[in-house]
Amino acid sequence: MGATIIDGTAVSRELRARLHGELDAVRSSGADPGLASVVVGDDYAAHAYERRLRRLAEAVGCRFQAERLPVDVERAEVLATIGKLNADPRITGILILRPLPPQLSEVEIYPTLDPLKDVEAVHPVNAGLMARGTPRFVPSTPASCFWILDDYFRSSGREPATALRGKTVVIVGRSHNVGKPAVWLALDRGAIVIDCDEHAFHAGRLAEFTRQADVLVVAAGAPGLITGDMVSDGVVVVDVGINAVPAGAGGRVRLVGDVDFESVASRAEAITPVPGGVGPVTDVWLVRNTVLGSVIQQTSLDIGPWPPA
Ligand code: NAD
Repeated sequence: MGATIIDGTAVSRELRARLHGELDAVRSSGADPGLASVVVGDDYAAHAYERRLRRLAEAVGCRFQAERLPVDVERAEVLATIGKLNADPRITGILILRPLPPQLSEVEIYPTLDPLKDVEAVHPVNAGLMARGTPRFVPSTPASCFWILDDYFRSSGREPATALRGKTVVIVGRSHNVGKPAVWLALDRGAIVIDCDEHAFHAGRLAEFTRQADVLVVAAGAPGLITGDMVSDGVVVVDVGINAVPAGAGGRVRLVGDVDFESVASRAEAITPVPGGVGPVTDVWLVRNTVLGSVIQQTSLDIGPWPPA
């Protein structure tokens, strides 16, 4: 029997309808969400993501502001831009898009964000809250992976809150924005969690672990990394990877995931495609976090104004 192909676009439509309702509810209580993105340089994917977010935010009625800085920008100017957004009451969510050029260290930049506007939970306080199992914001990509999984479990007769208890969840990739928070979310659900990064691959040990997966989440940025011989029958696969690979003449490209779809789908219980899987859900989730940010700021939850007076 073939795998169920999980329709991320349908999941995203449902989430978007929910977002409309959430926006109406927060507006009626006086909050006013606004999302700002910061892009440094000319990275094609970052600019494409910024445009997609603008379209989505404007379509659902959330303010959107794009800050664009040149690739050779000084660190001080980036900090000034972040400071301006931190101080702007009309902005309730700030997204710093990657990649950053070499003169800008993520470790130095992220702590300058107002943690109450840090919708991707990259500020050390928010990452710490996530790791502790009490997140303020759940970063959009891992949040989407687990939202999709919950939806699939529900539709196949399993209770999402308990479906992962005692199951083996294998995560491939260990980035701050995807892999690590996905580990924390899986731990919170009572799963046995294995995380592999490029070193597991170079040690020739990746398949040893991916074969143990009941649920496999792959976020490595390596096209076709996971093949059918690396998974066990009945695995549920979430492919986060988005990779542009050559597609015929004329420099055309097509988008593929980190999973070799055909061979893995022939063994899996269910699988997300690329495109049309995690991506569409992630965008909606980020705007949702911006709405949450407006509520957090309006009610001054837990740690007050930033930086402290
Ligand atoms: P990243 O480069 O920050 O991290 C990649 C991680 O994968 C690292 O931990 C690295 O060690 C590991 N890795 C790389 N090659 C590997 C290999 N051969 N075997 C095992 N591990 C390997 O990337 P990221 O930001 O986490 O993104 C990962 C992928 O997910 C990219 O393709 C990116 O475009 C995609 N992405 C998709 C969405 C979405 O909404 N679908 C959102 C964010 C990122």
